Amino acid sequence: MSLKNNENEHPRILIPELCKQFYISGWVTGTGGGISIKYNGHIYIAPSGVQKERIQSEDIFVQDMNGIDLEVPPKEKLLNKSQCTPIFICVYNERNAGAVIHTHSPEVVKLSLLNPENEVRIKGLEMIKGIFNDELDRFYNNDEDVIVPIIENSKFERDLVHTFHKTLKKYPASSAILVRNHGMYVWGKDWKSAKTQCECYDYCFNILIFQKTHLIQISEHNK
Ligand SMILES: [Zn+2]
Repeated sequence: MSLKNNENEHPRILIPELCKQFYISGWVTGTGGGISIKYNGHIYIAPSGVQKERIQSEDIFVQDMNGIDLEVPPKEKLLNKSQCTPIFICVYNERNAGAVIHTHSPEVVKLSLLNPENEVRIKGLEMIKGIFNDELDRFYNNDEDVIVPIIENSKFERDLVHTFHKTLKKYPASSAILVRNHGMYVWGKDWKSAKTQCECYDYCFNILIFQKTHLIQISEHNK
């Protein structure tokens, strides 16, 4: 395991720490969700089907971009690599991403139930400023609309890859894709950007749910 002292931003430190935070946020309960961080050209990936708040540093998988395992958890732990791995790699290949987060946030599921369309529009909210436009390579202004695509769920996480890839191409500005009745994938140029955006998306979705359930139109005073 290549981990030096005081390397607080090493994925072996960050992934367990972030998973604990995401568990408390309700994003990765029931062993759902996942996270991957790119570091020194290698891909660090959380294990699958485990209590996300109890992941240890040695439980992280490390592979290269071709899928070759470089470091794996101790055999006796019987861990498997995240089921989301093909999607993480798809994002790394298509976007300038340094980290990808997959949440099973209830806000995303509620919103996808309330919104039968294949995209969601976020507008008029201050927190839009924390969302990155991948196409323009800058953060959104609060008077711009953010369009987030929704894809349909599949039986297995890996079966989402084809639709996910097509959707990445169709929405070059988007830094997130929602999976109906399931959760969302969010990415950023590094783990901080991915985490910040995940928080901003979740916040905005919470407001959109409030707006939809109370039939409230958001005012246009930012325009
Ligand atoms: Zn999932």
